[in-house]
Amino acid sequence: MRAAVDLRSDTVTRPTAAMRAAMASAEVGDDVFGDDPSVQALQERVAALLGYEAALFMSSGTQSNLCALLAHCGRGDEYLVGQMAHCYRYEGGGAAVLGGIQPQPLAQQADGSLRVEDIAAAIKPDDAHFARTRLLCLENTWNGQVLPPERVREATALARARGLATHLDGARLFNAAVASGQPPAALCEGFDSVSVCFSKGLGAPVGSMLCGSRQFIAQAHRERKRLGGGMRQVGLLAAAADHALSHHVERLAQDHALARRLAEGLAAIPGVGVQPPQTNIVFAQVPDAAALLAHLKAQGVLATGMVGLRFVTHLDVDVEGIDRAIAATRSFFEAR
Ligand SMILES: *Cc1c(COP(=O)(O)O)cnc(C)c1O
Repeated sequence: MRAAVDLRSDTVTRPTAAMRAAMASAEVGDDVFGDDPSVQALQERVAALLGYEAALFMSSGTQSNLCALLAHCGRGDEYLVGQMAHCYRYEGGGAAVLGGIQPQPLAQQADGSLRVEDIAAAIKPDDAHFARTRLLCLENTWNGQVLPPERVREATALARARGLATHLDGARLFNAAVASGQPPAALCEGFDSVSVCFSKGLGAPVGSMLCGSRQFIAQAHRERKRLGGGMRQVGLLAAAADHALSHHVERLAQDHALARRLAEGLAAIPGVGVQPPQTNIVFAQVPDAAALLAHLKAQGVLATGMVGLRFVTHLDVDVEGIDRAIAATRSFFEAR
């Protein structure tokens, strides 16, 4: 039996032989003592790459966003965030549970952006009735879409004018950079902090990085310690992330091309509606998603979805796999 074509997420990739070799030869030390040269080097590399003073290696994107929220906000503060954003909806309510921080979710536009009018209206007056509005969080890419730069500029400028801090959940920032032809640092302009993931399209097994000012990162470091996120000879993982940054960024264009190929193949099947993808995530609307998912699974093609279907391309899929996914979908509709 052939290996499954796994399009559930770009997190399913396995480290390449070259990445494993980089990990095996990494210089390491106890990072809780600040002694791991591979971690230090990666933190400096990513801070410089994204245009920040400092950076801190994290075990996951969720931990990175949570440390950012805890460092920006205190008990009784609130953050403005998209209704469908990861750091509101998909992180177990961590900021509320562990920080006494209240989210103020806002409806997102179809492109993932927040309207400035909605942001302005959600900022609470300085009055004992209200939580203190402290922070605006945006996400790029959101659902595989690159946030329109003008919307980002408007939103971060408003936040700044109203005294709010700004955080960017850039789990897939490098996809946004490659798709838009912008340097990653340009996509971080206007944000006091950013979190990026190495374990998504970049293909590392573990790891994220939180970037910000030296003072902000010092506070985030305290938060990470409290969350049990201090790691020891973690240069093994930093080496994987460093390898990914050197070898797996430009190639994201291939993932985006495969996503377009998949979208075009699916769109040609009567009964399937597809949004043209901007990066590596394809959403398809079908009449019976659960039945199609089961059919695909039986054919060795894995995807996810509830209402529609979600396919994510990555380092471990190729043209043949994409064509198998298209053929398997077609066979579902032909059999009906
Ligand atoms: C994956 C993801 C995260 C963090 O995920 P972890 O699984 O905790 O590493 C955060 N934000 C977005 C937008 C993501 O896609």
